[in-house]
Amino acid sequence: MSAIPYGRQDINQADIDAVVEVLRSDFLTQGPVVPAFESEVATYCGAEHAVAVNSATSALHIACFALGVGRGDVVWTSPITFVASANCALYCGATVDFVDIDPRTYNLSVERLAGKLALAEKAGKLPKVVIPVHLCGQACDMAGINALSQRYGFKIIEDASHAIGGKYKNEPIGNCRYSDITVFSFHPVKIITTGEGGMAVTNDSTLAKHMRLLRSHGISSTPADMHLRPADEIWNYQQIGLGFNYRMTELQAALGLSQIGRLDSFVEKRHLIAQRYDNELADLPIEIPWQHSDSHSSYHLYPIRIKQDKSAKTQRQIYNALQAADINVNLHYIPVYRQPYFEAMGFKAGYCQESEQYHKEVLSIPLYPTLTVTEQDKVIRVLREAIA
Ligand SMILES: *Cc1c(COP(=O)(O)O)cnc(C)c1O
Repeated sequence: MSAIPYGRQDINQADIDAVVEVLRSDFLTQGPVVPAFESEVATYCGAEHAVAVNSATSALHIACFALGVGRGDVVWTSPITFVASANCALYCGATVDFVDIDPRTYNLSVERLAGKLALAEKAGKLPKVVIPVHLCGQACDMAGINALSQRYGFKIIEDASHAIGGKYKNEPIGNCRYSDITVFSFHPVKIITTGEGGMAVTNDSTLAKHMRLLRSHGISSTPADMHLRPADEIWNYQQIGLGFNYRMTELQAALGLSQIGRLDSFVEKRHLIAQRYDNELADLPIEIPWQHSDSHSSYHLYPIRIKQDKSAKTQRQIYNALQAADINVNLHYIPVYRQPYFEAMGFKAGYCQESEQYHKEVLSIPLYPTLTVTEQDKVIRVLREAIA
């Protein structure tokens, strides 16, 4: 048996055929497939606009930019996330700060957010944007965060890199009912893939238009956007702002379009695997992922916590035992502010204690649609032996 990763893509013949068809077509970029993929994602999540880009990192950047994040502003996010959720603020010249996690969902804690906002208001340093992250596919308390945004006037970007296909209060994540913009990632370990790729969805047409400009050099070829010039000059496009080249290719969009047709079946398979872990691991001295009743997770990850007060074995011992058996568990995540780059900004150990406790206990065990029963049995057996 080859090594079992913690996550991987599921590519079938239809996915391959869709990409090959584009390779034989007239357009490898800036053709009809990117808009078709955007429209499919918008329809799937019930959002009005979708802007495809080459990664979720790019999507987070143009989302912050479109919301006006700049020098002097502060953006808040969760420490338990991939670094991109924080870096997007830095790209815009803003500073970043962190709100500790909820001990049950591991998502940004709304109680702590409320407390930190009250202090920030007194200090005159309220955040411009808050970026909740739907960790592992489980939705944050968006209604709670939205209520605070109305009181304190900040904007909301949902980092749903883990969460396409998931639901919050029975509605698809990405409908932006409680946020300004939602961002998805299509990296191969995520729920659906385009190789590399991302998407920003919104119900605000001005934000959508701005993000479209930002993803392609600030260039527009829409006549209404063009500045009037003498009639004998030929202008088929104009740069009307400063943007980037963050475009998604037609090949990527073709893969995405084929994959989104399989999204619900991927999420169903992930649920079956998660349920099996729930049952088979229930008696062990570990914490399995607790689910809030408002959330229908996409189960991007299955994090177990080796509780330091319950288990005789350490996180490191269990990690080593699984690695030795060719099971490539991973750790999601080291608190972002503990990264050397962030420590150099002045963040210190102990800043968010719940997050640091989580980091010392958590391991993501393999969960992906093509994980076989035999492979899952092996993970369960090795884990049980390691903990015994
Ligand atoms: C993967 C991920 C990103 C970045 O996604 P890319 O598409 O690789 O740029 C951002 N935020 C979170 C929470 C992620 O897991």
